[in-house]
Amino acid sequence: MSSYPLRYFGDPVLKQRAREVEELTGDLQTLVHGMYDTMDLEEGIGLAAPQVGVRKRIFTYDLHEGDGPHVVINPEIVVTDGEIISEEGCLSIPDMRFEVVRHERITVRGIDLDGNEVVLEGDDLLARMLQHEIDHLDGLLLVDRLDPDARKDALRELRMLDLPEPSGLGSGLGSGLGTGAGFGR
Ligand code: ZN
Repeated sequence: MSSYPLRYFGDPVLKQRAREVEELTGDLQTLVHGMYDTMDLEEGIGLAAPQVGVRKRIFTYDLHEGDGPHVVINPEIVVTDGEIISEEGCLSIPDMRFEVVRHERITVRGIDLDGNEVVLEGDDLLARMLQHEIDHLDGLLLVDRLDPDARKDALRELRMLDLPEPSGLGSGLGSGLGTGAGFGR
């Protein structure tokens, strides 16, 4: 078990657009397995690399259907359909849930650790998870999906939470994986 510390709301790494992965290196294997362990430990169904301080377009997920965990690298939304409002939580905003508008069905394309194409198509929990994790890679959090009034209320509530201080960019895991490939920067 080698899990990573989570980054929480207020940490600048969560507000930045993550970069495309250009090369599938051994460091990525280590990162992804650490993300699996972190997701498992934190009891999440999805985890995006920025949530462990790494600005790379990678997310892991496990819907507990018996075949996970999985990873998607450089995900792209290729088809969306419908609209649905549902309640979501986020490991980076502990103990709070928000009603957000999502596409009802979605198709996402990316690659796995071996460079094979991955296509995910679905609705319900899978569709919400995919949109939630891709939002993280674009620097968007649940509060950024709320209407202005709900956002204001949520930010007020968040300010009162005692969340861990931002770890800062390029520190911790980021520099630990410092391969010059842009981890954590
Ligand atoms: Zn999240």
